[in-house]
Amino acid sequence: MIKGYQGELMSIYQKIRDEENNNLRNRRAEIESLYPEIIELDKEIQKNSLKLSLSILKKDNTEKTFNDIKDTITDLRAKKCEMLVEKGYSPEYLNMHYRCSKCQDTGYIGVTKCDCYKSKLVRLFYKDSELEDILRDCNFKNFNLNLFESSKSDGERFSPKTNMKNNVDFIINDFLPNFKHSNENLLFYGTPGTGKTFLSYCIAKELLDKGNLVVYKTSDEVIKALREIRFNNDTYLEKLMYDCDLLIIDDLGSEQLNDFVATELFNLINKRILKKKQMIISTNFTLSDLAKHYSERISSRLLGNFKLLKFYSEDIRIKINLSKR
Ligand SMILES: [Zn+2]
Repeated sequence: MIKGYQGELMSIYQKIRDEENNNLRNRRAEIESLYPEIIELDKEIQKNSLKLSLSILKKDNTEKTFNDIKDTITDLRAKKCEMLVEKGYSPEYLNMHYRCSKCQDTGYIGVTKCDCYKSKLVRLFYKDSELEDILRDCNFKNFNLNLFESSKSDGERFSPKTNMKNNVDFIINDFLPNFKHSNENLLFYGTPGTGKTFLSYCIAKELLDKGNLVVYKTSDEVIKALREIRFNNDTYLEKLMYDCDLLIIDDLGSEQLNDFVATELFNLINKRILKKKQMIISTNFTLSDLAKHYSERISSRLLGNFKLLKFYSEDIRIKINLSKR
């Protein structure tokens, strides 16, 4: 499905151009029926523009004829604008309307992708990634801090509620506002059901809504994608995994670890760190278990290049289910 995005985007641009061509035809037909004299003027402009092109091609024309035609066109255009405005229309009414004037709805400026290309890709990816449904429920609006106990846990400095509040405050006041200009990676660690995935979703929604390309995958899905890239040469998927603005890897440690997985996982994490492309990784492991489970080169990246955020509480999912009964 990911391979098809380029084609799908090109057909979206084609559709926009078709729609705008159609809109222009309708506007012309409307003016033609109400004020045919304006359309006559428009035809006159086109005729003169053609004349101008020909006079450039036929080099035997004097500069005077060239300037005369140019002046005529300018006069006709001014007259057309005046007439349109007089009848209560915008002076641009009979021009092609581009939704992106930078690339004229082609997605490209020369060979460079236009800004609108990326925002379309984000929307397309968002729509296809099942995230849209999930994020309708899992977002900061529905974040309930009261699910976390306010009494202090054994051996912890803060109560689960205060700890979670600190984590959320950091995300809202620091991580999100500085996202574009920082290269901070986050490692969420703690037992299952303590809000790691929910907070990742909240972050994904905030950043997707601002037009960032966020890819969310469980560690199993990451491994599947890495296999696709390696064995089926899926370059589009490769670009997505290595270059998206934020890669969220949920539940690291649940994947089957072998040599291939260890190598590819290291390459992915390491390359993204070198390219300053941000990641949020969550794991149910403790930090010492993480260090034991992975090779030194993976764990040193995780512990050295990620800001560590600890999660603890009773299992929130069990609590929510119990409260529904
Ligand atoms: Zn554009």
